Amino acid sequence: MKMFMFIFLNILNIKVFGFFLKNNIISRQSVNFLFLQSFPEKCIPTVLNNVHSLNNLVKNIKENDIIELNNYYDKLKPNIEYLSYSELDKVRLSLVIAYYAHYNQKRLSSEKFIIHPYNVAIILSELKCDSDTIIGGILHDTVEDTCVTLNEIERLFGENVRNIVYGVTKVTKCGNENENAYETNLVSMFLSMRNDWRIILVKLADRLHNMRTLEFMEEKKQKKISEETLEIYSPLAHRVGMWNIRNELEDLSFKNLNPMKYKEVVDNRTKIIKNYSQNIDILKEKLKNTLSKIVPGKYDLEYRTKSIYSAWKKAERNNCEISDLKDLIAIRVIINEDWVFNLAEPSSICFIILSKIHKEWKYVPGTVKDYINFPKQNGYQSLHTTILTENNLPLEIQIRTKKMHNIAENGTAAHWKYKSEKLNKKSVSWLNILDERDKFVSKKSLITSALKLPTIK
Ligand code: MN
Repeated sequence: MKMFMFIFLNILNIKVFGFFLKNNIISRQSVNFLFLQSFPEKCIPTVLNNVHSLNNLVKNIKENDIIELNNYYDKLKPNIEYLSYSELDKVRLSLVIAYYAHYNQKRLSSEKFIIHPYNVAIILSELKCDSDTIIGGILHDTVEDTCVTLNEIERLFGENVRNIVYGVTKVTKCGNENENAYETNLVSMFLSMRNDWRIILVKLADRLHNMRTLEFMEEKKQKKISEETLEIYSPLAHRVGMWNIRNELEDLSFKNLNPMKYKEVVDNRTKIIKNYSQNIDILKEKLKNTLSKIVPGKYDLEYRTKSIYSAWKKAERNNCEISDLKDLIAIRVIINEDWVFNLAEPSSICFIILSKIHKEWKYVPGTVKDYINFPKQNGYQSLHTTILTENNLPLEIQIRTKKMHNIAENGTAAHWKYKSEKLNKKSVSWLNILDERDKFVSKKSLITSALKLPTIK
C-alpha cells in the first residue's frame, strides 16, 4: 500500500510539476532518465525539446546520429562501470546534450567537434573519476562555444556539474590576443579550482587531448600552447601528483618545442634500455623467485623508464649524459595489500621485501629512500633502493602497495577512492596562495610560483 501511495504521489508530482515546467526545462524530478538507457532513439527528441537552447535541432535528428551516439556511449561504458545506473544515465544524457550542442562544429582536424569533449571524458574515465567530473568533461566546452547555458546545465545535472563547467569556461573570450584577458582567465580558473578541485582534473584532461591533437594547429599557436603547457599545466599535474598526465604533457610539449633534442633523447634512451634489457630479464626472474617465497601470486612486477622530458631535464640539471642517470630505468614491485590480512600494517611487507632484496643483491649505499614513513608532500609513498645487476649496472627498485601505487600514479584523482573529501581539499590547499594576492605582483607569476612550491619527485 505504501509503495502504491509512493508511486501515485510520484506520478502526481511529475504531472503537476510537468505542467508548471512546460517544455522549458527538464527538472531532475520530472524526467525519467532511465528511458534514455532503454530507448535512446525515442528519448532524444524529448531531451532536445526540453532544453531551450537546443530546441531548433529537433528537426535535424538523423538516424546516423543515434548510431554514432550509441557507439560513443558503448565505448565509454566499459570504463565507467563503477558508476551507478542512474549516474550512467546522466552521463549518457550529457553525451546527447554535448553532441547536439556542438552539432555543426568541426575541429581543425576536420573531425566533428564532439570527439574532443568525448575524449576528455575517456581520459577522465581512465582515472576512474566520479560522474560529476565525467559529465563536466563531456560538457566542458558547451557554455563557451555553444548556446547551452549554465542554468540549463544546473537544471539537468545539478550545481556541482555547473560549477565544474563554469570553472573551465573562459571568463573573457579574447584570451589569445590580449595578455590581460589571458591572465584574468587564468586567475579565475585557479580561483574556481579552490572551490572544487575536480576542475583541475577536467582542465588537465582537456589540455592533454588538445596536446595530443596539436598537429592540426598553425605552427605559431602550437609553440605557444606547448610553452603554456610547460609553464602552467604540467606543473599543475605535478602539483596534484598526476605523474602519468604530467609526463605525457611534458613529452608532447618538448617534442613540439625542440624536435631535434627530443629525437636525440629518445634515441639515447632506447639504446640504454636495449643495453639493460638482458640484465633486466635475468633480474626479473630472480626477483620473481624471491617474491614467490614471501608473497606468492600477490604481486605485480612493473618496469618503468623515466619520461623523455624528465630524463633530459635531469641530465641538463646535473650537467651529465642521459646514460649517467641512475634512475632512468626502474623496476616496481607492487604488492596487493588486500591479501596481507595477518599484518597490522600492510606497508610492513614492503620493508620485509626490501631487506630480502638487500640480502640477495649488492646495493648502492645512500640510495635507500623511505617515502612510506616519510611521504612526499603530495602523498607519494614508496620504498626506493638502487641495486647492481649482473654486469654491475645500477638499477632502481621501487617497492609499494597497490594503494600507494594508485596514489603515486594518479595523485589527487586517486585519493577520493580511499579518503574523504577533506583530504582532497587539503591536497590543493596550496591554491590558497591566491588569497594573498599582492597588487604589486603579477597574478600570473603568483600562480606559477604557487605551482613551483617544493614537492619535487
Ligand atoms: Mn576543450
